[in-house]
Amino acid sequence: MDIKNHRGLNQIGGCITEISTATSRVFIDMGQNLPGVGEPTTPEQDKAMVEGIFAQNRKEHEAVFYSHTHEDHIGLFWAVPDNVPQYLGEASKAIFIKKHMLIKRALQEKKEHLEKSSPLYDLMNEKIQHQVALIKKIDQMRTWQRPMTKRSPKPLQVGDISITPYYCCHSSFEGYMFLIEADDKRIWHTGDFRGHGYLSKGLYKTLETYARDIDTLIIEGTMLGRDEQCYTEAAISKRMQFVMQAFKNVFVLVSSTDMERLVSVKDAAMKAKGGYRLDKRAWYMSWAMTYATHQFGKHYRMMNFDVKYVDLMGKLPSTGFVIPVNVSLMERVQSALQRLDPSETILIYSSWDGYYKDPEQVAVNPRYKQFREMFDNVVDIHTSGHADRETLSRVINTIHPKESIIGIHKEPDTSLKSLDISDELKEKVKE
Ligand SMILES: [Zn+2]
Ligand SMILES: [Zn+2]
Repeated sequence: MDIKNHRGLNQIGGCITEISTATSRVFIDMGQNLPGVGEPTTPEQDKAMVEGIFAQNRKEHEAVFYSHTHEDHIGLFWAVPDNVPQYLGEASKAIFIKKHMLIKRALQEKKEHLEKSSPLYDLMNEKIQHQVALIKKIDQMRTWQRPMTKRSPKPLQVGDISITPYYCCHSSFEGYMFLIEADDKRIWHTGDFRGHGYLSKGLYKTLETYARDIDTLIIEGTMLGRDEQCYTEAAISKRMQFVMQAFKNVFVLVSSTDMERLVSVKDAAMKAKGGYRLDKRAWYMSWAMTYATHQFGKHYRMMNFDVKYVDLMGKLPSTGFVIPVNVSLMERVQSALQRLDPSETILIYSSWDGYYKDPEQVAVNPRYKQFREMFDNVVDIHTSGHADRETLSRVINTIHPKESIIGIHKEPDTSLKSLDISDELKEKVKE
C-alpha cells in the first residue's frame, strides 16, 4: 500500500492524501488552500491541479472520502472527475448542500433587486448557475451514517481497500477519522480533531478499541507550535456566562455550524438570561440547530436546541438578550446597535482570532474586523478546534504505530518529534 501526500504536509489545510494498492486508491480530503497559504490560485489552476492528480497512478477502483466540510478539506470537490465517487458523512452532506442552497438564495434575492439592463444582472445569473452546478455535484455524493452510541461503524469498500469512518470531535458540524486497510496493512488518518470538546470524551476509547495494530499513523499537528493547553468547551461556556450576567445586551459572533460552541452559548445564555434568540434571517444557524436537534438530540441531550426568534430590524427585548450571530448579519446587527446603549452592549467574539488579526485574512474577508469595530465593548472567548500538544502526544502514545508517523496539517517549522513521545516513536516520524 502506497501513501502520497499531494498537499498539506507542511501547511495548515489544503490537505490531499492518496492511498493506493495495485488496483485501487482512495483519497482522504481534496482541500482548498486557506487564504495566505501558498500562492493564490485561480479556479482554472485548481481544476488543472486536481485533474493532474487524477491523471497519474490511475486505478480500476477509485473514490474520495471527506473527513469534514471545512473548505481546507473539501473545497476542491467540484474539480474531482464525475466518474469518481465521493463520500462524506450523512449530516456533513446535509449541511454542505444547505450551505450552497442558502448562498444561491441570497444571490437570487440580490438579483431580484437588479434591473435587467444592469451589467450585474448577467453576472448574478452566472453566479446562481455556478451554485446550481455545485449543488448538483454535492447531491451525487455518497454518504455513511454516523453510528450513535455503542454501535460500531461499518467499513466501506473501494476495490481491495477497506475504509472505516470514526466520528471525532472538531469545530465542524461533524468530523471523522479513518481506518484504511489493504495489503495486510492498517493506516489511521486522524483528519482534524481535538481532545477538549464535549464530544471528545469518546476519543481515547475509540482509539483503544479500533486503532489497534496500526502500521502507519497520519496525524494533524495544527497546534504543534503552540505551547498552551486548550480551554475546554465547558470552561468557554462558563466564561461566557459571566459576561452575559454582566452586560444587558450580548451578541456572540460564532460559526453557524460549530454545534459544540453553540451548545456552550446556549448553556451560558440559559444560566445567565434564561434563553437566547436567533435573528429571523440567521437561516444557516437556525437550520443547523434544528437539524442537530432532530438528528442527534435523542442521543445527546445537549444537542437539543429550542430555537426562538427576534427581528434585528425590529423591536428588541427591553430587558436584554443573548443573540448568536455570524458576519453575514453584520448590516442587521449594525442597525440594531443604533437603538442600543453602547455601554450596556457587548460582543463576545467566539471565532478564530486570525480572522481579524492576520492581515492576509483581513484582506480576503474584512468583515470579522469590521464586525468587532462596531462595538465599544468586545471580549474574546474562544478555544481551538484542534488537539493541543498534550493530546497529540497522548494520541500517538495510545496508537503506538508499528512503522511510521506522518504529520500533516501543520506549520512548516514544527515537528512531531518535539512531542512528549518515546525516542522509538520519534524515530518513526517521517517529515
Ligand atoms: Zn483543517
Ligand atoms: Zn477543520
